[in-house]
Amino acid sequence: MKTVIPAWDLPTVPVAGTDARFPVRHIYCVGRNYAEHVKEMGGDAAKEPPFFFTKPADAVVPVHAGAVGRMAYPPGTKNLHHEIELVVAIGRSGEKLDAARALDVVYGYATGLDMTRRDLQIDMREKKRPWDVGKSFAQAAPIGEIRPVASGGHVVRGAIRVDVNGARRQSGDVADMIWDVAHTLAFLSQLYELLPGDLVYTGTPSGVGPVVSGDRLDGHIDGLAALSIVVDPPR
Ligand code: MN
Repeated sequence: MKTVIPAWDLPTVPVAGTDARFPVRHIYCVGRNYAEHVKEMGGDAAKEPPFFFTKPADAVVPVHAGAVGRMAYPPGTKNLHHEIELVVAIGRSGEKLDAARALDVVYGYATGLDMTRRDLQIDMREKKRPWDVGKSFAQAAPIGEIRPVASGGHVVRGAIRVDVNGARRQSGDVADMIWDVAHTLAFLSQLYELLPGDLVYTGTPSGVGPVVSGDRLDGHIDGLAALSIVVDPPR
């Protein structure tokens, strides 16, 4: 294909057990999906329908199991936060899904980090403006290897945690999500047709906090590939 400006590489994520990669189309994220995190963000833990925001596909920072990825400290912030999250990789299209069938569209699962410019997010929230500058920026979505459902099944429970420089920062259990994966996909698919290549970051447990350049993050979800990344100085 001839292009009028240089084309860029398709963003992709490694898949456990194969050299073939998962191409990324959209990145959807769920806000406030663990009760303790809702409280730490100043919210009310009453069970409301989930809400969603997005990141650009090329925000992924794919990291192989056993490797240490790198992301640059982003511009415009003095308060970059980690949010460790279970990521759902969509392999089949689907819209207006019932929760009972929603898992049929899932290709696999991965460990991810919803990196957040918290100062900008909160400033926008207080001004009732969109969250985009807080959530949607280059390298905002580190992700580890995807484990296919075909080899590991669905993820409904298990420890989820992240350490920064060896100290535990966030720790929870996937079973404590307010809306589980099936219900999250059911809600999301009322608003968008889910398509192969979509990723869904499913929210974070409590304990979010800042990182600075030089910090190392080690993310873990039981049964999935670990996600390790170092924050580099601003580019
Ligand atoms: Mn998040």
